[in-house]
Amino acid sequence: MTSPEELLKRHKAVMPGWISLYYDEPMEISHGEGFKVWDSEGNEYLDFFGGIVTTISGHNIPEIVEAVREQAGKVMHSSTLYLIENQVKLAEKLIELSPISGDQKVFFVSSGSEANEAALLFATQHRRSSEVLAMRGSYHGGSFGTMGITGQSTWRPTSRSALDVTYAMPPHHSYSSLYGRYEKDDPEFAKACADDLRNLIRTATTGHVAALIAEPVQGVGGFIELPPEYIRGVKEVLDETGILYISDEVQTAFGRTGSHFWGIEESGIEPDMITLAKGLGNGLAIGAVVGRAEIVDSMSGKLHLATFGGNHISTAGALANLNYILDNDLQKNADEVGGYLKDRLVNMAKESPLVGEVRGRGLMLALEMVGPDGEPNPAAAVRFLQACRERGVLVGKGGIGANAVRISPPLTITREAAEEAARAFEEALAVTGEAAKVG
Ligand code: PMP
Repeated sequence: MTSPEELLKRHKAVMPGWISLYYDEPMEISHGEGFKVWDSEGNEYLDFFGGIVTTISGHNIPEIVEAVREQAGKVMHSSTLYLIENQVKLAEKLIELSPISGDQKVFFVSSGSEANEAALLFATQHRRSSEVLAMRGSYHGGSFGTMGITGQSTWRPTSRSALDVTYAMPPHHSYSSLYGRYEKDDPEFAKACADDLRNLIRTATTGHVAALIAEPVQGVGGFIELPPEYIRGVKEVLDETGILYISDEVQTAFGRTGSHFWGIEESGIEPDMITLAKGLGNGLAIGAVVGRAEIVDSMSGKLHLATFGGNHISTAGALANLNYILDNDLQKNADEVGGYLKDRLVNMAKESPLVGEVRGRGLMLALEMVGPDGEPNPAAAVRFLQACRERGVLVGKGGIGANAVRISPPLTITREAAEEAARAFEEALAVTGEAAKVG
C-alpha cells in the first residue's frame, strides 16, 4: 500500500505550483472497464466524471482498442505530409453529422484548446478583425489565445492575449442571475439578454467583430445552460453585422446532452463552426474544427499545420469511437438514463438546503452547493466529492464559485449504475449536511 505522501512525492516532477488535486488523498487511476475505473490500490469506482467529460463510450472498449492497436502495428506518422484514409473517413462522417449545412471542411488538431485557437484564427482571418465576443463564465482552453478570452478570472493569465475580447452576459441559471427579476426560462429574459448584446456591440466594440464563441452548456463554468431562446436571440444580433458563431462543443458533442447530438442543436440555430475534442477521441489526443468551407479556407495562401493533428492513431481510434457512439445509439441512452438521474437528483435536492439548484441535461448534470443565504459553498462541494469517493463514485467539481458538483459519466452508463450512484449521492449529501451543522 502506497501512502498519500509517497504517491505525491513520486509525482513531484509533474506537479507545478498551481495544481491542486481533487481529494485530500491523491488517487492514481490504473485501469478502467466500461463505466468503471480502479485506482492503484485496487479500489473500484463508478466513473461519473468520465475524466472531465472525455470518456463518451467508456473504458477499454474492444472496438476502439483494436482499431488503435491495428493502426499502431501498421504506421504512426506525421499527419500533414501525406493523405490518411481514416482522417478522410472521420472528416466525412463529422460533416455528415454536423449541425452546419452546405459546403464544409474539417481541420484536425490534438486538443480542445488547439481547436478553438484554429477556429478563432479562421474567423479573425476571414473577417479581417481580431475582435471577438465570448461569454462570462466560459472556458475555452489553456493555450495563450484561448486563456485570454476565457470568461473566468481564475483561468486567465495576467499577460495579454492577441485577441480583443468583449464579454456578453449569459443568462445564468436563475439561482444566481444578475438579472434576478427574471426566471431562467422566461422568453422576456432571453430577449433582454440578446438586446443587451446588441448594445454591447454598439458601445464596447469597434462594430467590426470577427466572431462570438460560446459553449451551449458551459462546462468548467459548472454546467450552465444557455437557454435556446437566448441563443436564437444572440444569433439574430450577430447576423445583423455578419459576426460568425463558433459553438465550442468540446464538452457537449456526441449526444452528451441527451436530446440532441450537438449541444447547439437544441436552439435550432446553425453555427458557422463547431470545435471538438475530449469525447471525439474517447481519451485519445484529438481535436477538430468543422466549419463552413470558405471560413476554414481563410488561411489559403499562407502556411498553417499541426504535426499531430488527425494523425494515424488518433483518427483510427476516433473513427472507431464515433461508429461505436452511433451503432449503440449512446445519445438515446444519455437522454433516458440522464432523465432518470436528473429526477433522482431533483428529489434529493428538495430535502436539502445545501443544493440550491439541480441543472443540466442528458448526462451533463450539476448540483449547485450553497450556504444558508444562497451563497456559493465550495467547502460543501469538496465534502460531497470526498463522501462520493468513499462510496465508490467519482464526480467532478467546477463553477465560478468552485461550488458546482459535475456529474458526467460515459454515455454507456446503465440505469442500474445510475441508481447505485444516486443512492451514493443521497448518502453523501446527508454526510455533507451533517458536517455543515457541526462545522
Ligand atoms: N473548450 C471547452 C468547453 C473545454 O471544456 C475545454 C477543456 N476543459 C477546452 C475547450 C480545452 O480543451 P483541452 O484541455 O483539450 O485543450
